[in-house]
Parts: sequence; structure tokens; C-alpha cells
Amino acid sequence: MDGVLAPYAVHGSTSRGRLHAEPPAATRSDFQRDRDRIVHSTAFRRLEYKTQVFVNHEGDLFRTRLTHSLEVAQIARALARSLCANEDLVEAIALAHDLGHTPFGHAGQDALNDCMRPYGGFEHNLQSLRVVDELEERYAAFNGLNLCFETREGILKHCSADHARRLGEIGERFLLRRQPSIEAQIANLADEIAYDNHDIDDGLRSGLLTLAQLDEVPVFARHAQTVRAEYPGIGERRMIHETVRRMINALAVDLIDESRRRIGEAAPASVDDVRDAPPLVAFSPPVRAEEDALKRFLRDHLYRHYQVMRMTEKARRIVRELFEAFIDEPRLLPTDHRQRVEHDGPRAIADYVAGMTDRYAMKEHRRLFAAGEI
Ligand code: MG
Repeated sequence: MDGVLAPYAVHGSTSRGRLHAEPPAATRSDFQRDRDRIVHSTAFRRLEYKTQVFVNHEGDLFRTRLTHSLEVAQIARALARSLCANEDLVEAIALAHDLGHTPFGHAGQDALNDCMRPYGGFEHNLQSLRVVDELEERYAAFNGLNLCFETREGILKHCSADHARRLGEIGERFLLRRQPSIEAQIANLADEIAYDNHDIDDGLRSGLLTLAQLDEVPVFARHAQTVRAEYPGIGERRMIHETVRRMINALAVDLIDESRRRIGEAAPASVDDVRDAPPLVAFSPPVRAEEDALKRFLRDHLYRHYQVMRMTEKARRIVRELFEAFIDEPRLLPTDHRQRVEHDGPRAIADYVAGMTDRYAMKEHRRLFAAGEI
């Protein structure tokens, strides 16, 4: 496998290894093993019932964090192959990148962050690392999944200086202002390609966005026009899919071209060179500008749509009320979580609430607050 990798890619043979030393697997590379551990984790299965933008029960065809993570992994692997980077590693990072998400997407994370402010805050990215480092209970010999340094580095996309100082080796790059591996950079932008485009698709499907609105967004309009010209009379649903498909493809092609150019210029000969160079995986400036315009559009018309705002406000309230109920009276917590609170204090409550799926959080909220329900 290492034979086809560029010198700047992460090679299994030079990995910084795991927190707890383990003998290598007989039939898999270290990063395949990480990927498998992630897929078999409890947190991964919960992603099926966690929201991206639309709450899970609103429709069976909307993305969830699970399908989102699979889409990110697919895009990331394709990019990695073109850039001669480590596909197994990008796949592991992509599948794990959202493991720490609270129920109800960003609304849930913001509410939990507010609740945890006096106790060090809550950040979904850090929580993803906490899940794989500490919270999973699947191995006899250690807590967490004991993933390789490079997988953990990719999961921790951003981090405040305060947190970085407490995290030791894994937090170092934020203090030294270094970049992560090329694989981490790829997974990060694959995430962006995936969610911007599927939010268009889900937004249209939900009826919260209209085609007329999207035709005002230059990047969508350009691809849609080509599709309409090539296939006059094409049905609307098919036209949308074809347009979104072409947008994803165009972003991937641009990213590969621009990244190759940057790699050529910086000529990194090792992972350490990648870490010291400016970001090597990037869109070209005009495509970056179009992506940013698309993001602004989605923020103004989808994420701040009144129907989405109603949902996110309700989500915020549910998360806040759950947290407050448990912090006021830890005896309301299931036994094992109550025991954790004795050790870890409010952080254990945040872990419990963050681990909930959307529907579990709603059920738990009803159990605690609805008259006539226990
Ligand atoms: Mg994501």
C-alpha cells in the first residue's frame, strides 16, 4: 500500500503510533484497523439518528450524520487517490469526524456549550476526540478506540489555544500554527464539499429553498443552465440531482488541480514538510469565492429559515433543559452516568447529553418534563 503513496503522504510505517502500544494487525494496515474500530463503535451507530440540518423524524430521505459521514468518506477517498495520499487514513478521519456531535446539530452544540461555559465549554470537535480517546468502552485493555496519532490529528480540526495546551502532543500544532497531514486537510475539505451540496439538495426537497432562489446563486445557476441546455425538458428532480452532481465534481476537480499546484510549489518531501508548509489542499481563489457565496446563501435562506429556526430553538431548549435537570439533580441520571458524574462532574453530564440521538433526547425530555409520561 505504502508503495503508491507520495512521499508527503502519511505512511503506516512512520506513524507516530497509538496511545497504548499494540501489536500490528495480521491482515490490515494500522489505518484500516482504525477505520474498522470507528465503524464498529457505538458512537458511529448513533450518527444514524443525529441531525445535520433537518431533525431526524422530519423525513426519511434527508441526510443524517451517518449518511453525511459516508458521503464525506467517499469524496475524501476520491481526492486522496488523485493526490497520492493515504486513502485508508482519510476514510478513517472522514468516518470519525462527526462522532462528537450532539443531538440536533449545531443548535444542540451551541446550547450545550452555553450550559458548559462555567466548566470549560463544549465543542463538538473536541468531543469527537474524547469519544475515540476515552468514552467508547469496547476494549478490555483501554478506554476509547486507541486510534493512531494521525487519525486523531485529523479528527481534531480546530481547537482553542487553551484546550490545545491541555491536550499535549495532539494539541501542539495549534500552538505552533502548523498544518495537519495532507490526509486531514483532504477530509476537512471533503466535509465542506459534502455538506454544502447536500444542503442544497435537502433544502430543495424540503421545500424551504426554491429553484428560483438557487438560480440567483452563480455557481448553481451556471451548472443548472448547462444541464437545461443539454437536456431540454428534463424533469425538475432529475435536473437538481444532475446539477448538484456536477457541482460536486467541479469542486473536486478544482481542488485536485489547485492542490497539485500548491504541492508542486512547496515540494514537500515528508509529512513534516506538509505540517510546516502553508495549507496544501485548497480550492482555487475563484472557486473559494463561489463556495463562500453559496455558504452565505445557505445561511440566509436555509439555516435561518423560520421553519428551521423554530426547530433549532426547540432543540436548544430541549438540550438546555435536560442539562439543567441533571445538574440540579444528578440522581435523575441512569446509574452508570451518575457514577461518572461523581468522578468527572458536569463533563459527564455533557457526555451523556452529547451522546443522545435526536429522538432519544426528545424521549428523555418527555420523560422528565411531560405530565403523564414516565
Ligand atoms: Mg461534517
